[in-house]
Amino acid sequence: MSDQQLQHLTDSVAYLPADHETDRPILAAISGKDRTLLLDAGNSPAHARLFLTQVAKLDRPRPELVAITHWHWDHVFGMKEMGLPSIAHHETKSMLQKLLPYDWSDEALAHRVEQGSEIPFCADMIKKEFPPASRGEIAIVLPTITFADQIEIELGGITCRMDHVGGDHAYDSAVLYVEQERVLFLGDALAPDIYTKERNYTTAGFLALLERIAAYPAEWYVESHGTPLPRAQFWQEMDEMRAVALLTEQCHGAREEIMERLPENIGRALREDDAQLVQYFISGWKKNCS
Ligand SMILES: [Zn+2]
Repeated sequence: MSDQQLQHLTDSVAYLPADHETDRPILAAISGKDRTLLLDAGNSPAHARLFLTQVAKLDRPRPELVAITHWHWDHVFGMKEMGLPSIAHHETKSMLQKLLPYDWSDEALAHRVEQGSEIPFCADMIKKEFPPASRGEIAIVLPTITFADQIEIELGGITCRMDHVGGDHAYDSAVLYVEQERVLFLGDALAPDIYTKERNYTTAGFLALLERIAAYPAEWYVESHGTPLPRAQFWQEMDEMRAVALLTEQCHGAREEIMERLPENIGRALREDDAQLVQYFISGWKKNCS
């Protein structure tokens, strides 16, 4: 695991880049005149510490709150280390409540994978981030403040709004919009459903979510496991994903027909990663038909 360095996205937004080695998501610090808000708690105490140490060196008000985008382990296992009141959707709290009694030993993880309540990808990443000696550090902390649809957080000249958007990846997903800086933190909301045998997107779910996201006049879009994208680049990617979703509907999930018609719909030759995206939508189509 490499030690990432804090980057500055806008005057009031700094972030620690994602680290794919152990699936660490982007963590962000948003500062107004009066206080700093952190976004997501990290996938371990070590991840949270790496971030907090660098945030402490910024010439900004100290962090007072942490906003959580959704319940997945990589966004919440650093909550105790953060040592701050947290804000999350009420369904995030419900899911974390279910995790409270969990045992995180290799055996318990293997058992849950077998049962289907855990997936191999997350079990492997948890084992990698927490070698046996530090596995005992895993502690689930419940959010301090919960909301249903929306909550506004005033930082002093900088206003953040969290909106619950749900989606295929996690029904509790919330996005955070930094109004004055026009930065939209998407969490993993636009990622596929991964807690299943076949990763998938439902066309209806994805298209509805994209509509909601289009309503934000954002200049920057930040997906937790990607790099921040400026407006034009983000929407170029989203327009291609929308085209795949629409084609999946038009072709009733027929792979060959989708692949054949895709190049003219996205205005470019196919790339290697297109097949996987098409497969995610086909899996979602089949799931909805079964
Ligand atoms: Zn997630």
